Amino acid sequence: MKAIRKVKRKYGGIAIENVPPPSPTDEEVLIKIKTASICGSDLHAYTYSPTHHYITTPVTMGHECAGEIIEAGSQVKDYRIGDRVVVEAILYCGTCSSCMEGNTHLCDEFEVRGMKRDGVFTEQIAIHPKYLHKIPDDLPFDQACLTEPLAVAAHAAIDNSRISPGDLVLITGPGPIGMLASYITKAMGAVPIISGISSDEEVRLPLLRKSGFHTINSEKEDIRFVLHHYFDTNHVDVVLECSGTSQVIQPSLGVLRKGGTLTLVGLYSKIAQVDLTQAVRKEITIRSSCAYEWKNFEQSLKLLDSNTLDIDNIIAHYSAEDAEQAFEDAVNKKVPKPIFQFS
Ligand SMILES: [Zn+2]
Ligand SMILES: [Zn+2]
Repeated sequence: MKAIRKVKRKYGGIAIENVPPPSPTDEEVLIKIKTASICGSDLHAYTYSPTHHYITTPVTMGHECAGEIIEAGSQVKDYRIGDRVVVEAILYCGTCSSCMEGNTHLCDEFEVRGMKRDGVFTEQIAIHPKYLHKIPDDLPFDQACLTEPLAVAAHAAIDNSRISPGDLVLITGPGPIGMLASYITKAMGAVPIISGISSDEEVRLPLLRKSGFHTINSEKEDIRFVLHHYFDTNHVDVVLECSGTSQVIQPSLGVLRKGGTLTLVGLYSKIAQVDLTQAVRKEITIRSSCAYEWKNFEQSLKLLDSNTLDIDNIIAHYSAEDAEQAFEDAVNKKVPKPIFQFS
């Protein structure tokens, strides 16, 4: 069967290869992958960024997918053939102290599919049902495969940012997580303002404006002027830092209100230099948010099923054969979420 694989440890270095189909154990199900989407971490693997030098090659890439169960092992109880499902991205041990506390996303053996072990950019996968969530009947596979990045945004916005209805929330970085965090923040009754740079003006910021969001090009506009002009204030209540650019952290502290919250969601390839005295004097809460919890998958499926998010805006379809084009389009910010259709 077809698989999109990282085969060389350099920028690009991917290939469409034929791999043997998996054989599920008695405790696993076999899933026919319908849709799979490219995530920011897949882009780090594609570009071979320093944050992802730990990957192994060759490896089947990808961790965001939706599909249908076509075989169920004799020990599987809660799932049956024909069930439509999404798959959690993180592999966890289930026995370390974090896992025992229910924080499987902080597992000592934390591993994202498609990095050191084969992922989901292929036609079939064998998987233990503990990693599955059922998809609501009317939710299309196209939208369902965005459950995982939406869960990451939900964990950051709902669990880790102390956002209240009416809050002004500055979201720095309009990548897929920043975009999805905008939808969630709005659904929470807050007012998101999304800031990007000039290269985001081609596709990302216009898409967000089309969906009715306030946006800022931080290279051309002054955030304080925008806040004063449109919102009659000088400060925001919360910053969700989704850009992964360490230089964004200092100005974020500057624009936060006293007692506000800065939540770090991006992965930083450069060490941040920050004057933390400003944070102390304003008693700013600095938090971070990693991946998602089990409940965030369920929240995200409900949010998607509510049909209130403008999710179709940000996806574009590619065949597996056009994988390189899909990755390049994502790297060059032409498409927020490329989706592969495997069957
Ligand atoms: Zn992802
Ligand atoms: Zn663990």
